[in-house]
Amino acid sequence: IDKHEKELFGHPVGLYILFFTEMWERFSYYGMRALLTLYMTTATIGDDRGPGLGWSETDALALYGWYTMLVYVMSIPGGMIADKLIGQKKSVLIGAIVLCLGHGVLVLTDTWAFYTGLGLVILGVGLLKPNISTMVGGLYKQGDIRRDKGFSIFYIGINLGSLLATIFVALVVAKKGWHAGFGLAGIAMVLGLVVYIWGQQFLTHVGNHEVSVNKDEEVSYGQLYGDLLTSKPQFLITLLLVLASGLGWYFMGWGYGMLFLFITGIAALMMMIYKELPNKVYQDRFMVLLLSFIMVIIFWGAFEQAGGLMNLYTDEKTNRMLLGMEIPTVMFQSLNAAFIIIFATIVAGIWAKRKLKGREAGSLFKMALGIIIMGFGFLFMVFAALEYQQTGSSNMLWLVFAYLFHTLGELCISPVALSFITKLTPIKYASLMMGVYFAATGLGNKVAGIIGESASEYGEYTIFLGIFVFTVVIGGLFVAIMKPLKRLTHGAEDNERDLV
Ligand code: GLN
Repeated sequence: IDKHEKELFGHPVGLYILFFTEMWERFSYYGMRALLTLYMTTATIGDDRGPGLGWSETDALALYGWYTMLVYVMSIPGGMIADKLIGQKKSVLIGAIVLCLGHGVLVLTDTWAFYTGLGLVILGVGLLKPNISTMVGGLYKQGDIRRDKGFSIFYIGINLGSLLATIFVALVVAKKGWHAGFGLAGIAMVLGLVVYIWGQQFLTHVGNHEVSVNKDEEVSYGQLYGDLLTSKPQFLITLLLVLASGLGWYFMGWGYGMLFLFITGIAALMMMIYKELPNKVYQDRFMVLLLSFIMVIIFWGAFEQAGGLMNLYTDEKTNRMLLGMEIPTVMFQSLNAAFIIIFATIVAGIWAKRKLKGREAGSLFKMALGIIIMGFGFLFMVFAALEYQQTGSSNMLWLVFAYLFHTLGELCISPVALSFITKLTPIKYASLMMGVYFAATGLGNKVAGIIGESASEYGEYTIFLGIFVFTVVIGGLFVAIMKPLKRLTHGAEDNERDLV
């Protein structure tokens, strides 16, 4: 049999190639991310780990917010390049090379190197992350019931990378300084690249750029945007959005102006694609996908408090003493990844069991459930904040439970959404829509930052309670409209029916 048909543990070998490539890529991403704010805020002299940039906390957090957003937003051009020009497989390859360069440059100590390195990482992740995810979907035929499980396995790879990174990069930085930490992230990325190149033999049939004979099957973004000028309602909506961006620019500064303009660009593109879709079935499915992206933004907007507000809360207001030793704050950041590794197959197993009984929940339901479960995690943070208010410090178990619920919620929404996109999108927009999905998570990151910053004004108790109530209500609303939503997918999730 052909190499690409080879299987291991019931899945194509290609899955494990993508697993390890992504594991090392995430190692480099999360390893570097863990250092970023610390490096920026460390003084320029007198630190054991070498000179930092000496920035204020506000400046550092602002750059961090924009960076974590941009990294995912760049998935849109990354997806477009794959769809239009070179296919997913080559995009991942180039992305991996750019990432090696980026992390390599960050080893240097100059300021220009810092910005150049970050820029390259943003471009590299943009090319790699959405396209490697779409390739996982490409390993399975339409209707293959192993697809969701495949994505759960892939998700374990992501978190294995993140877990190893938070441990080893932290160790290296403590011993050898900042730039050695950046270097370790770079070495990890080189390993990812090597695995990927070696594994090409198992990936011959996925992620290739198909040149279509029929021009209709090609996406022309130029034409899509061109059509915008001639179709009245879409044009008017876009105009309003542009005006709103202008106001945003004026009142909130250029950063937000750019952000709104960017969202306008995506919204316009989505409207035009909707119009171009061949029939009602496709249009309905597209609508559902866009609605599910709203859930995605809300989910990550709450979830990503982990690296910001909850991290600071852990550091300042939590009693971290265990058996006479103080547990370092960063260790709490590993809980999420560790819980994913423990629970991913269990959660996927529960869905699979229900499927055998013919009672599997749809992806949309799982996603709504994910928001609710994650929301309940914040209830533990509410208790933590109450305890702190009464006694002056709070028990770390609250945090453990909060992260546990956040992770269980993440497992309901994140791998499920990846798989859902590969089921619902017409093939010619596959990479683009994966890109839009990651951009939605990027916007979620930014929302998280904005909410987190407002904690200094409203206090943690109010913020945690607010997030709890909001997420549970929104999740409940989606559950309430599940039936009509499900109808709009026109059976895209049923095995017997094909997408195309
Ligand atoms: N933690 C996951 C990853 O790194 C999800 C990130 C996201 O979807 N924004 O892939």
